[in-house]
Amino acid sequence: MSEKRLFRMTGRDFRLGRFDKAVLAIGSTEYHGEHLPYGTDTLVAEHLAEAVAERVEGLLVLPPLPLGMSHHYASFPLALSLSTETLMRVLWEVFESLLRHGIRRLLIINGHDGNIPAIEAATREFRVKHPEMKIAVLEAWWKTAADLLPEGTFEAWGGLGHGGEGKTSMMLAVVPELVEMSHARGVIPKLPAHVEVKWRFEELTPYGVTGDPTKATAEKGRKMRDALVELLVSFLREMDQRGWELGFKAGEGDPLLGVETDGGR
Ligand SMILES: [Zn+2]
Repeated sequence: MSEKRLFRMTGRDFRLGRFDKAVLAIGSTEYHGEHLPYGTDTLVAEHLAEAVAERVEGLLVLPPLPLGMSHHYASFPLALSLSTETLMRVLWEVFESLLRHGIRRLLIINGHDGNIPAIEAATREFRVKHPEMKIAVLEAWWKTAADLLPEGTFEAWGGLGHGGEGKTSMMLAVVPELVEMSHARGVIPKLPAHVEVKWRFEELTPYGVTGDPTKATAEKGRKMRDALVELLVSFLREMDQRGWELGFKAGEGDPLLGVETDGGR
């Protein structure tokens, strides 16, 4: 396979690669218990991005963003955290850089829950200002993987949790040498249904881990990884086929929808 990672390619590689789209992994650097590394969120998202790029023509792998909004995890040492505002700004300027160089199709693979508000706000606003830039987001792979796999795949809390069964399984599949299962310990928090209480992490767990990492296996992780890569590869192929259009353009056909693209910053 020719090099797909921008960080490792030369200008000549880039030119010859004829990249028409990019994938950006966004993670965090934060405590993930005694058994997982600080880079867990980044390592998983980066792994998925590279695995997808191996199978999709013209997909450039951008360097992963290793910092996210981790203020709500900062009660456990340590979290290198950006604010939501800063992360939005970083994303905005990455999008502008891509656009400036003619890359108008972007897939974001997010690895960390705290990044979701910044990604949502930055992508929505950017698309209002620059409709020609197409952006797709896999917002929460840990939920998507659980949705894609048969019921009963996970033993505890549907596989969810910060450093829980799903995430630890994924790490066992992706970078097993960085996982220390003998130190895995977590707790399943008693959260109310339907309405979200905005917790601080130390209110949920004394271990810095939610869910049950002791139920994690590499086999479950491989199933999650394979299901997600399959999903993203077929998603990108389908979007390329339809020119990343969603079937209807504002201003075409329906007189109630005008084209408004000049607003924003
Ligand atoms: Zn995280």
